[in-house]
Amino acid sequence: MIDNEGILSRPAPDCPLCGSAGALLYQNLRDPLFGSPGVWSLRRCDSPDCASGWIDPLPLPESLGRLYETYHTHGEQRGDNSPLPPIPFAPRFPRTKRLLAALLPRWRHLFQTELHHFAGMTPGTLLDVGCGSGGFLREAVGAGWKAVGIDFDAEAIAEASRVEGAEVHVMDVFDARLDDRRFEGILLDNVIEHLPDLPRVVTRLAMLLAPGGRLVMITPNFQAAGHATFGADWRGLETPRHLCLFTAQSLARLVRENGLPDARAFCVRGPHDLDFMSKASSDIARTRGHAPPSFDLAALKQSVSRSFFTGKTIGEFLILVANKAR
Ligand SMILES: [Zn+2]
Repeated sequence: MIDNEGILSRPAPDCPLCGSAGALLYQNLRDPLFGSPGVWSLRRCDSPDCASGWIDPLPLPESLGRLYETYHTHGEQRGDNSPLPPIPFAPRFPRTKRLLAALLPRWRHLFQTELHHFAGMTPGTLLDVGCGSGGFLREAVGAGWKAVGIDFDAEAIAEASRVEGAEVHVMDVFDARLDDRRFEGILLDNVIEHLPDLPRVVTRLAMLLAPGGRLVMITPNFQAAGHATFGADWRGLETPRHLCLFTAQSLARLVRENGLPDARAFCVRGPHDLDFMSKASSDIARTRGHAPPSFDLAALKQSVSRSFFTGKTIGEFLILVANKAR
C-alpha cells in the first residue's frame, strides 16, 4: 500500500488488461487539469498485442472519489462527467444535424453525434452510463429512444433531470435497481478509462444488454497521433483519473472476453478531434511550464486522414461497438 499524498494506492507493475509486465513510459506526473493530489507514473504494456497504458501506482477504489473533488469546478466543464468532447456541437438541433449530415457527407463529422453509432436500430431503451448533465439523453429522446442516464455526480444528475422524457439516477452500473432491467442500447462516452475492475464492469454491461442490443464505448486512443506528438502532455492521458488507456486491440479483446464476442474497435472517421486535442495538450504543456512541441496541425490531420486507408488506428478516440446475440 502506498500513501500517495493521501490517495491510497497500490503498486501496479503489470498490465491490468493482459497481465504482462510494462515499462515506465512517463514519471513524476501530476494532475495538470484539476490539481488533485498524488505523483504518478504511466506504464506501457510490453505485449505488442495489447500495448495498453495504465497509471502506477493505481489508486484503490475507495480513494478514487478524492480524484474528483475538484473535478467539476471549472466553468464550462461543470456538470459534465467528461470534459472531453469527442464530437463537436453535440447537444443542439439533433434533427437538423441529421439532415445536414445526410446532405453534406464531407462535413458529416460536424453534425454526427454518439447517436450515430446506434443508427439502424429500432429505438428501445438506452442507458447512458456517466450521462453528466444529459446532452446525449436529450438527443436520444429526440430520436425516439427511452433514455436512462446514470452518473455518480448528484449535481450533474440534477441538471440532467431537466431533460424532458429522460429517466435519471445517481447510481453506478452495479446498483441492484438495475438488476432486472435490460437495455437495447448502452453508451459509455469517455467513461471506461475512469473505471477500476474492467472485466467485472464489462461482464455487468453485457448482462444489462437486451438480446440483440448494442454497447458503444468511446475512449481516448493510446496510439493516437496526438499522443505520439505531445507525449506526457497529451490531453487523453488525464492523469490520474484515466486509470487505463486502451489500444484498439486491447479494448476489443476486453469486451470480447467478457461476454460480448461480437465486438470491434476503430477510430472516428475524420481528424477533427485533433483541433481540440492539440489545443488542450498545448495548454497542458504550458501549465507544466514548458513550451508545447512544434507541430504542423494540417500535416498531422492529413496523416490521420490517410490512416483510415492504411488500417492504422491513430485517431484521437477509439469507438467500440459490440452487439449482443439475439
Ligand atoms: Zn497488456
